[in-house]
Amino acid sequence: MTKRDYYEILDVSKNASADEIKKAYRKMALKYHPDRNPDDLESEEKFKEASEAYEVLSDSEKRGLYDRYGHEGLKNSGFSGFSGFDDIFSSFGDIFEDFFGMGGFGGRQGGRSGARKGQDLRYDLNISLREAAFGVEKNIEVTKNVLCETCKGSGAKTGTSPETCSTCRGAGRVMQQQGFFSMATSCPECRGTGTIIKEPCKPCRGTGKTRQTKKLKVKIPAGVETGMRLKLANEGEPGEKGGPNGNLFVFIIEDEDPFFKRHNNDIICQIPISFSQAALGAEINIPTIKGEEKLKIPKGIQANDLLTIKGAGIPSINRNGRGDQIIQVILRTPKKLSRKEQELFQELAKMEQENEKNSGFFKTLFNQ
Ligand SMILES: [Zn+2]
Ligand SMILES: [Zn+2]
Repeated sequence: MTKRDYYEILDVSKNASADEIKKAYRKMALKYHPDRNPDDLESEEKFKEASEAYEVLSDSEKRGLYDRYGHEGLKNSGFSGFSGFDDIFSSFGDIFEDFFGMGGFGGRQGGRSGARKGQDLRYDLNISLREAAFGVEKNIEVTKNVLCETCKGSGAKTGTSPETCSTCRGAGRVMQQQGFFSMATSCPECRGTGTIIKEPCKPCRGTGKTRQTKKLKVKIPAGVETGMRLKLANEGEPGEKGGPNGNLFVFIIEDEDPFFKRHNNDIICQIPISFSQAALGAEINIPTIKGEEKLKIPKGIQANDLLTIKGAGIPSINRNGRGDQIIQVILRTPKKLSRKEQELFQELAKMEQENEKNSGFFKTLFNQ
């Protein structure tokens, strides 16, 4: 994956001051913060990207390395970006408290023992150019965690229920003395869940979840392209402690077509024609995504000239209208000639030589 320039990400100049960098990051973080953009993977990426840029540019040593050697320079320093939100919030807990007054990630989740939304899932779906052009309904299979039906997600054996952890009194966190400081750490007794399961449910072994493969129908609208994603609400991982399910995002990957190339909503193809068709003009049948269509080749067309069939492209997904088909003309030179063809070409060549003598390209070239 290619990484974007950190200065560009934060939209600051190369010689921005520490204060300017902090301000720029604050702006980005407020805009793309996961609390303000729930379920938005794009904002999530932007948020992570900005946080990584800030991590580097706010540290004079890392910034120096980056300025001199770029992203490569940081690799050797042991910095490799963030893997998730937990990382970001633990690094910048103070700045987020400062920004939002909520104390970073812990505050965001409403405490370890509270209800939490399930994770979003991603599914990559390959479709053909024609499916992208006309829309399609696809059956997909997603293997994911679902709430255990036996215990309804509690993890406790039927007839019993999880008990509040006595060590942390259900908070999931305990205070630990370290020298002068007391720090909150995950409760070792309940491993941060706030509850203890004395008799675990058998089918899920106390986890409250089981793996299941679910069949889903996905309706792909006409006009999609690679990189677009469809959201299937609630089809992600189950939430914790009664929290809502995550969502499933279906990412579209359009397979390359052997004949048609796509450029936005236009379709581009190459069509070979003969010398005589180019010289005399012709009407030929050419393939379009909807089937064959007649195309008029004007006489005197040159190799690589472009012809257009209006509206034979891909429909626009947001607006009305559709793209065009653009045809690039390829001149096909015969590789083998019959005797008759040979004679005709020779005759043609003789006439060309006569014409060249009087007004040809070479005359103008040599008499300059
Ligand atoms: Zn269970
Ligand atoms: Zn506990």
